[in-house]
Amino acid sequence: MHTFTESSAETARALADLCLDRLQMQAPLDLSLTPAQLRDAAGETVTAAGIGSAEALRLWEHVLAPACLSVDHPRYLSFIPGAPTKAAAAFDMLVGASSVYAGSWLEGSGAVYAENQALRWIAELAGLPAEAGGVFVQGGTVGNLSALVAARATARHQRDVTGRPRPGRWAVVVTEETHSSVKHALSEVMDVETILVAGDYRGRLTGAAIRQRLAELDPAQRDGIFAVVATAGSTNLGVVDDIAGIASVAQEHGWWLHVDGAYGGAGLAAPSIRSLYAGIEHADSFIVDPHKWLFSPFDSCALLYRDPVLARAAHTQRAGYLDPVTVEGEWNPSDFSVQLTRRARGLPFWFSLAVHGTEAYTTAIELTLDVTRAGRMLIDAAEHVQMLVEPDLSVLVFERLGWGAADYSEWTARLLDSGFAFVTPTTHRGQVCTRFAIVNPQTTADDLAAILDTMR
Ligand SMILES: *Cc1c(COP(=O)(O)O)cnc(C)c1O
Repeated sequence: MHTFTESSAETARALADLCLDRLQMQAPLDLSLTPAQLRDAAGETVTAAGIGSAEALRLWEHVLAPACLSVDHPRYLSFIPGAPTKAAAAFDMLVGASSVYAGSWLEGSGAVYAENQALRWIAELAGLPAEAGGVFVQGGTVGNLSALVAARATARHQRDVTGRPRPGRWAVVVTEETHSSVKHALSEVMDVETILVAGDYRGRLTGAAIRQRLAELDPAQRDGIFAVVATAGSTNLGVVDDIAGIASVAQEHGWWLHVDGAYGGAGLAAPSIRSLYAGIEHADSFIVDPHKWLFSPFDSCALLYRDPVLARAAHTQRAGYLDPVTVEGEWNPSDFSVQLTRRARGLPFWFSLAVHGTEAYTTAIELTLDVTRAGRMLIDAAEHVQMLVEPDLSVLVFERLGWGAADYSEWTARLLDSGFAFVTPTTHRGQVCTRFAIVNPQTTADDLAAILDTMR
């Protein structure tokens, strides 16, 4: 298995050909199958003697891959789609072939250097100081968790050194539209209280609302607060919180400000909407997922800290066998998040950024915003649909007048079964509706018009 033979060469060439085909073609949207359907079609694939590369590849190409939705299809508008550049997707293959361990500087200095350059670009977009830095983790979920763990460790340390007692229960301020990963990290992983503050009519968390809520809390609860999470692009509505207002409350109370830009952080590179992010320069930590609106393959989240020393204090794992890699002054990515071994998951993003330059990213993001604005005009002009939330970024939330939950579900299934589009229902203020999430520069206004026509 480990010697390179004529047969390994054949397998590698066949794989390279398949990759080239996938990069060139507009992949069909494809379908999700049931376990029974896949058992019938693929059968038992893991056997004592092996099924051989030709058969395994045949199964992948003709049975398994078509049972995976193509997230980069221009009419895949559900959740947050992905749309990797060709350069990023191709480089991901090389990362896989290169056995790079990117957890420590000792083992992966070249990869870590390149990843850090990509992180630098993001830090500068956000206006973070020169010392800011971090790591690429798996996704926003691990990014949010790692940031909040660093925030709590910092709060603990501050109390311990100043002699201020630790609270009965630690707490973090969030709002209804705060991503589920943050709420899960707080309540299930960290066992921290979430203090829910009401959002405004578009679900935006504001500094004023936090102040009002604080006045209602009992002193013990207030004392436990160590952080607030601002969302720079809510997943469901694409709305950016009042970051500047939140930052000023955080500053007054000495809280850690975490900004979750997993989806919307990419908009920092778009001059037409940059002003929405005012105040982000005060963030103590910030995340953005390149696998969402920064055109990289799954999976990757850029996690940045204003002061990486605080994150290192929280996350460095100690063990005798790790001493050789824990060298003072060296940048070890595993010191900044909840992980040790790591794939160099920022490299596909770095490669594409290096190849095309940052201006190409600005252009591509602005293009998706133009298509979103065109889609909004189509919805405003049509009589059967109606916008529900004023959009900030590239998500359009709207209803089909007269439809109930069953109508939306039937419509979603019909579009997917016919391979035409993937658009799922959602809810806004208890009302069933639907949404377009536009992060793919190949999605056109014509695509949106054609989907709206299917709702007549
Ligand atoms: C997608 C998303 C997350 C979770 O990110 P994953 O990469 O899916 O783990 C967190 N926050 C926001 C705002 C998101 O849109």
